[in-house]
Amino acid sequence: MKFLTNLGLYLHIPFCNGKCAYCDFYSAFTNEELIDSYLTALIREIKQWGGKINRPIDTIYLGGGTPSLLNHHLVPLLKAVYENFNVLDNAEITLELNPADNVLEILKNAKTAGVNRISIGAQSGDDNELSVLGRRHTAKDTQTAVKAARNLGFNNVSLDLMLGLPDSNLKTLKNGLDFLLDLSPEHISAYILKIEENTKFYKQKATLNLPDDDAVSDQYLFMCEYLENNGFCHYEISNFCKENFESKHNLKYWKCEEYLGLGPAAHSFLDGKRFYYPRDLKAFIKGNSPTPDGEGGDLSERIMLALRLKDGIKTEDLPTAAKQKCELFSKNGLAILDDGNFSLTNSGMLLSNSIISEILEEF
Ligand code: SF4
Repeated sequence: MKFLTNLGLYLHIPFCNGKCAYCDFYSAFTNEELIDSYLTALIREIKQWGGKINRPIDTIYLGGGTPSLLNHHLVPLLKAVYENFNVLDNAEITLELNPADNVLEILKNAKTAGVNRISIGAQSGDDNELSVLGRRHTAKDTQTAVKAARNLGFNNVSLDLMLGLPDSNLKTLKNGLDFLLDLSPEHISAYILKIEENTKFYKQKATLNLPDDDAVSDQYLFMCEYLENNGFCHYEISNFCKENFESKHNLKYWKCEEYLGLGPAAHSFLDGKRFYYPRDLKAFIKGNSPTPDGEGGDLSERIMLALRLKDGIKTEDLPTAAKQKCELFSKNGLAILDDGNFSLTNSGMLLSNSIISEILEEF
């Protein structure tokens, strides 16, 4: 009998109540009628895929956009998933929550729907920074959201933070980190601000007082050390957790394990093949098919993803020239080479893209 490996399920909810100044994610403005049509289409895809896939689902991730806007739709949506897929009893089920919204009602619905992990887009603990970012919430809203989640019994809460913000420095970053730590999250995701095209920040770039690359590097290294000193394991370039609270769903991406993503702009890796739904909400509602994106999971792809993780890679399968590069990076303090295992240090993680490309050049 063929052993069926577990699968992750990602559901993309492409709605937001506004556009943040830095964001280029695929999302549309919220509109109840559109949400209804979208959910009908999403449940249609859930049924179709559920009829074809027999593998146990051990993680479900509702990302966006702002999936918490689904609110009372969460129960029927996840019910459709449970009815059509073999969801394991101990599956990790994550909901991204925007603290600007009606968090108490949303969290109650999430609990009823079976969600057991809440990822809150805190981004900063400073109201001025939040306003510059174009966020709709305040620091107090984040505190209220975490408190509500705890009161309802959620014991796996992740908070997002952004660094490299306009006018930021080590002091403002430390304030942001202390704000998060006071809320005792199990997990923190911390991302360096990137100015993407087609965003408000891109147009304002010349007038934003952004820290230079060295200052951003200092912020990143400070944050890594500060969170490690406060009991967090730095398990991936941008992710930190208390013991055993890694994001099981996101680990699938970095470990090159398989997942099915449903919704416009959602990517999948299934039966060795990658494919995605185009960034087109109306086409998804009409029933467009996913676009093939080639084979996935070869050695170079696995190395590229695994080097994001603290655990790193085994060097035994690498070509000799790549092994020599690993030795060089380890001598430069950018990596640790220990008994055939190669992993990046915090400084190396800052340069991960160029280190990974240099190693892959030798394939
Ligand atoms: S950052 Fe999140 S809430 Fe803001 S526009 Fe992007 S997806 Fe929506």
